[in-house]
Amino acid sequence: MTAAADVKPGEAMRKRVVILGGGFAGINAATELAKLPVDVTIVDRRNYHLFQPLLYQIALAVLSPADIAQPIRSIVRDHRNIEVLMDEALSFDLAQRRIHLKTGVQLEYDYLIVATGSTHSYFGHDEWAKLAPGLKTVEDGIEIRRRVLLAFELAERQMMETGTHPPLNFVIIGGGPTGVELAGAISDIARLYMTRDFRHIDPSMAKILILEGSPKILGSYPADLQVKAGEQLTELGITFRTNAHVTDVQPGYVMIGDERVDAVVTLWAAGVQASPLGKLLGVETDRRGCVTVDGHLNPAGHPEIFICGDLAHVEQDGKQVPGVAQPAMQMGRYAAKRIGRLIGATSGSKDENFRYFDKGDMATIGRKAAVADIKWPFKAHWSGFPAWMTWLTVHIFFLIGFRNRFSVFRQWAITYLTFNDGVRLITGSQDLPGWDSQSKVAEEASSKSPLEAMILKP
Ligand SMILES: Cc1cc2nc3c(=O)[nH]c(=O)nc-3n(C[C@H](O)[C@H](O)[C@H](O)COP(=O)(O)OP(=O)(O)OC[C@H]3O[C@@H](n4cnc5c(N)ncnc54)[C@H](O)[C@@H]3O)c2cc1C
Repeated sequence: MTAAADVKPGEAMRKRVVILGGGFAGINAATELAKLPVDVTIVDRRNYHLFQPLLYQIALAVLSPADIAQPIRSIVRDHRNIEVLMDEALSFDLAQRRIHLKTGVQLEYDYLIVATGSTHSYFGHDEWAKLAPGLKTVEDGIEIRRRVLLAFELAERQMMETGTHPPLNFVIIGGGPTGVELAGAISDIARLYMTRDFRHIDPSMAKILILEGSPKILGSYPADLQVKAGEQLTELGITFRTNAHVTDVQPGYVMIGDERVDAVVTLWAAGVQASPLGKLLGVETDRRGCVTVDGHLNPAGHPEIFICGDLAHVEQDGKQVPGVAQPAMQMGRYAAKRIGRLIGATSGSKDENFRYFDKGDMATIGRKAAVADIKWPFKAHWSGFPAWMTWLTVHIFFLIGFRNRFSVFRQWAITYLTFNDGVRLITGSQDLPGWDSQSKVAEEASSKSPLEAMILKP
């Protein structure tokens, strides 16, 4: 199968570029390649581009999936030289320049951009995934939302039936930006949005605990912002423990060595590993499976292949370029421009290396707080409300699609100003791992009989 269907007479020599992955790197590569005389195929196993930085807002019921996802076809609709194939890349034949897809299709390329991102790492304990879901996909977001909301519902029911319920402990494993954002959002839900909705339980009594294995939360941020983040978490009633290595995850609790920590909901925000496709290329990878690339983003010996985004291991000034959205976008654009130079379609030095232009990092901590390490257009460390406003503006700006920007802005305004409902729907199963055993313990400890509780609290 060739990359573009409508090759016109005289255009037979047009190069075929295949992009694997329609994430930040893939979409930015595609929109740059749209300007070149090449035929492009984007392959993604999903039909949409997902704005992952706002995923936790799905998880915590502020936004719905359609707000932060956009069909890839609609993003490239106006670019006639780009086609989209919903399929999954399974393996490569690098000698024949061919990709094998899940449906049996074999796709040929002259240039290949691999940008399939990363996934969770449970550090060899994949069995923990069911007990402590991580946040990477829309499905993960909906599952986390289900568990968090269900915990409150089950507690209310149990309170009505027995007059007691297990402590609403939410444990988040990992104190990086995702863990901190999840913790802040659960705290908001419990303290601000849920308290008016329940009659028998007090959702604001929920306890949120972040367990971080390293000595600091937000380890990649400057020390003063780590301190500010800690203060803002404490203000929200969130506890965090550092140097806390989780050694086991079980239904209803986690272990830190010999210490047991009860949890009605456990969430995973601790580790990532590269997409498994990296290893299947048969080139050098690092311990997380990221492909080691040179200054042109090529793996050794393959100037026709570009690795972009989270999947790439790029060294700059002695440090690894971080796996976040900005470098992914810049790598995608770089790869496309370099292809332009290699085929002689654009000017500029062919030997110019990729260089990450770091504009800074931000993490939000609940409704009105955040930390921002700004590096461009000026240098500053902000925290609290100014950092949160900056975070809000940047995220609206980078969301793809006018419809998404408008609907996210509207939904945020409604939710943040009016403390309104958000998207608090529970879909799927009504089971919570470990709930039954925890509620039995709570019942045994309670002095009221079930009947008494029912009569007293109709
Ligand atoms: C919860 C969360 C919050 C985040 N917050 C921030 C933030 O605030 N700021 C920030 O800068 N970064 C943030 N990030 C990181 C940022 O989202 C990633 O660095 C970025 O998405 C990487 O872009 P990418 O193009 O490499 O991969 P992705 O955006 O992950 O895209 C990869 C694409 O490849 C597709 N794919 C995977 N395997 C295959 C296959 N075999 N065949 C076909 N298609 C495949 C996937 O469906 C996906 O569409 C966050 C990430 C998460 C998960």
